[in-house]
Amino acid sequence: MRIGELIKYLECWAPPGVSWEKDNSGLQTGNTEETLKSIFLCLELTPEALSEAIRKNCNLIITHHPLIFRPIKNLNFQTDKISQLIKQLIKHDITLYSSHTSLDFSKNGVSYELAKTLGLNQIRFLENIDGKLLKIIVFVPEENLESVSEAMFSARAGIIGEYSKCSFNTKGTGTFLGSSGSNPHKGIKQNFEKTGEIKLEVLVHHWDLNNVLKSMIKAHPYEEPAYDVISLKNKTSNYGMGAIGLLPEPLSVNEFFKLVSEKISVKNLKFTPGNKTEIKYVAVCGGSGSDLLNSAIKFKADAFITADVKYHTFHDAFEKILLIDAGHYETEIFSLNALQRYFEEYLIKTDSKIRVHKYSGCTNPVKFYNN
Ligand SMILES: [Zn+2]
Repeated sequence: MRIGELIKYLECWAPPGVSWEKDNSGLQTGNTEETLKSIFLCLELTPEALSEAIRKNCNLIITHHPLIFRPIKNLNFQTDKISQLIKQLIKHDITLYSSHTSLDFSKNGVSYELAKTLGLNQIRFLENIDGKLLKIIVFVPEENLESVSEAMFSARAGIIGEYSKCSFNTKGTGTFLGSSGSNPHKGIKQNFEKTGEIKLEVLVHHWDLNNVLKSMIKAHPYEEPAYDVISLKNKTSNYGMGAIGLLPEPLSVNEFFKLVSEKISVKNLKFTPGNKTEIKYVAVCGGSGSDLLNSAIKFKADAFITADVKYHTFHDAFEKILLIDAGHYETEIFSLNALQRYFEEYLIKTDSKIRVHKYSGCTNPVKFYNN
């Protein structure tokens, strides 16, 4: 199996096109044409994590946080840590790929996994994202409707939440006048023609557009298929930020603290109190999710768990919602379990002997002082 095959599989779940525009999700270094040996997962690359990957004969490392985030002006192997890691990756023929906000914004990604770890049910996004959806409108002869729509569906058009193959069809009349150089599928060239057609409307995410158009044009019988691509303001229900769900049963605030502390192995939880004595409806966002505080309040969540919360954000939440800062590493590390399950499912299906390793150490630089 090529490394690229596994990355393609990952991108079906967490497409780089969904990422935050300032992010650098995707390939960091390497050659995806190489044969895959084993996979190594860690939240971010450190010298210790890289040494373990080399020892375990892994030539594909998937991290959450990208190694290359800001533009690199030079590679200084003497003093710069990132340069030194890049040198080691190249020396050992290792491909490094980061699934950062692409995984954050995907269903069953970072925040979903945190919600599952806490035992929440009926999980959904806290906020869906916009700017990702397009609509394709194409005019098709009725007898070709099925083959054209199937070709578009198989290239991932028409997915809305838990529904696939979504489209809308209306009957109408198309007109055309072919030149002397034309070769019309119906009618005669240089003759003004009218023909019955179906207006087929399908939604597509922008990163799938080229593939969907290619498939549509291939399946379409016309020499010049007529189609429109329209940008939409709609939010996509397939991708979003944060997650919200229900605890199996209401807990007192103290019981809830105990649950959070046990499930995500954090002794020190920084928080500000909310206005409820019982916690049932819980919002989460792995990593820095303070921007979602208002959405959590709007959804009437009893508690919101995230990380990197500033002092003034705690003030904003005080006596409105129980806001817990559980740590950046702590709220994101469980996403490696989701990645491992996803890859192993594929490797079992393809009868592969390739193994998925998770870093056995901890890359969290934040420590707590206990006296
Ligand atoms: Zn993060």
